Amino acid sequence: MINELLPPKRILMGPGPSDVHPHVLKSMVTPLLGHLDPAFLTIMDETMELLRQVYQTKNKATMAMSGTGSAGMETVFVNLIEPGDKVLIGVNGLFGERMVDVAERCGAEVIQVKAPWGQIIDPQQIKEMLQQHKNIKVVAVVHAETSTGVRQPLEEISHIVHEHEALFVCDMVTSLGGCPTDIDQVGVDAAYSGTQKCLSAPPGLAPVTFSARAVDVMAKRKQKVQSWYLDLSMIQAYWSEDSERFYHHTAPITMIYSLREALRLIVNEGLENVFARHKRYGDSLHAGLEAMGLSLLVEKEHRLSQLTSVNIPEGVDDLAVRKRLLEKYSLEIGGGLGELKGKVWRIGLMGYNARQENVTYMLAALEDVLKEENCNIEHGVALQAAEKLMNK
Ligand SMILES: *Cc1c(COP(=O)(O)O)cnc(C)c1O
Repeated sequence: MINELLPPKRILMGPGPSDVHPHVLKSMVTPLLGHLDPAFLTIMDETMELLRQVYQTKNKATMAMSGTGSAGMETVFVNLIEPGDKVLIGVNGLFGERMVDVAERCGAEVIQVKAPWGQIIDPQQIKEMLQQHKNIKVVAVVHAETSTGVRQPLEEISHIVHEHEALFVCDMVTSLGGCPTDIDQVGVDAAYSGTQKCLSAPPGLAPVTFSARAVDVMAKRKQKVQSWYLDLSMIQAYWSEDSERFYHHTAPITMIYSLREALRLIVNEGLENVFARHKRYGDSLHAGLEAMGLSLLVEKEHRLSQLTSVNIPEGVDDLAVRKRLLEKYSLEIGGGLGELKGKVWRIGLMGYNARQENVTYMLAALEDVLKEENCNIEHGVALQAAEKLMNK
């Protein structure tokens, strides 16, 4: 006999996946509907409307692609880019690098604007590149760089991009549901996200949104989108309130239930309250970590609340600490990626996990485990500093 599947219970406070909200888990044990059942189409319509609210947009072309956040990234690039198009990408972390790879695979001529990992992309450098290279079609940046914990300001870049009549693309995988995305107000032409970060649903769907300008650019393509699965010209006929709803591929029904429930919870709490909650507990985590004597990778002004990179103190064993947190506290945090491997830990406070008890548990567990590693930390200082900001 093969044992029943019984994974250990963890607290997921790394860079994603993050813990799924209990109501979202519950939504996933409901019976299936057929993907063309009118009852299911209604659920899709509701999901689209909720997605617009959470993305803060009126964009008609707002839907959930099948696949994880990276499928969202691929969707945006394969649909907007044709071979030979020029694309300008801001690279200040792993996900910027991934966009470069994806855009190159679409046959784009990619120009990069770089910043050190842990810093923002400088809008002036984007401006210079747009002046230097003519006919750049798309400019893309990562709004919430999960590999570093940087929050990229978007308004100024958006302004510059539109002055040059390019399309503005943002990776919002870790920002959606964690901080304002303001698609319409900022003027983002295409964005993609994932369900497993601040939406507190399992990995499996990639919400995307496209402005009317982006839809127009796609409509004028000369060549077919090279990906059949991600081709929006066909997918839009299924994910659209007023089309005949043609079958393209079988929608992942259960995942769409989970997304609808996750979005419902966010909208019911109120977007502003959700953002304020992330900010409050992010600030309090930061204060606690600093009181413990740890330093953070990103300067205060550009820090995300939902993902924090902590510099690993000299002489402390990265893997040993993460292993101990997992074994002793069942607590998962992330290690560094790319050039930050072995240099930082990444702590997530995403969606459902952006709560007081998670901050308290994290600080207490980390203090204990770091003491085992012979770090000299005064007992309780982290919690004291964190608590000061918790009820503000
Ligand atoms: C997680 C993440 C992705 C990739 O999402 P997957 O769900 O792992 O495919 C892309 N961009 C950013 C900023 C992310 O945090």
